[in-house]
Amino acid sequence: MALRINLRYLERDDLTLKGELPVAELDLDLRDEMIRPEKPLVYELLIQKLDDNLLVRGRLFLPIACECVRCLKAFEYELDLPEWTCLLPLAGEEKVTITSDSVDLTPFLREDILLELPQHPLCKPECGGLKKPTPERPKSSSLRRTEPSAWAELNKLKVRNE
Ligand SMILES: [Zn+2]
Repeated sequence: MALRINLRYLERDDLTLKGELPVAELDLDLRDEMIRPEKPLVYELLIQKLDDNLLVRGRLFLPIACECVRCLKAFEYELDLPEWTCLLPLAGEEKVTITSDSVDLTPFLREDILLELPQHPLCKPECGGLKKPTPERPKSSSLRRTEPSAWAELNKLKVRNE
């Protein structure tokens, strides 16, 4: 069940496609253990035929189970492409394959989703990695900083008393 566009429908009108595509259909072939797309791709697309081109625009959304490369925490990365656009030529050298009046969108979705996958998934941008015991700041340093002012205060008092 790939995502196909039937060109016959487009002869009269624009076409809206809404739904979910099982992620297995995308055949992402990931070898990265940190990134595991398991949930379906959610799409909402408007397809228009403009002369010899198909213009596909819309939103792609794919939740991906990830593991943070720094702290190994599992989290869900949301791949969200709210303004995905794809122009598919129906004629010329670059033209797309048309099988029984329909064009398979799946390869184009796959290509763009692969480009958008996180290269080094992080649970949060500032993730500091696995928690190491942070060495406590030596307290003497903060004391030393207040010392001069304390002496200064004392000196002021002395001056006033004299
Ligand atoms: Zn992390």
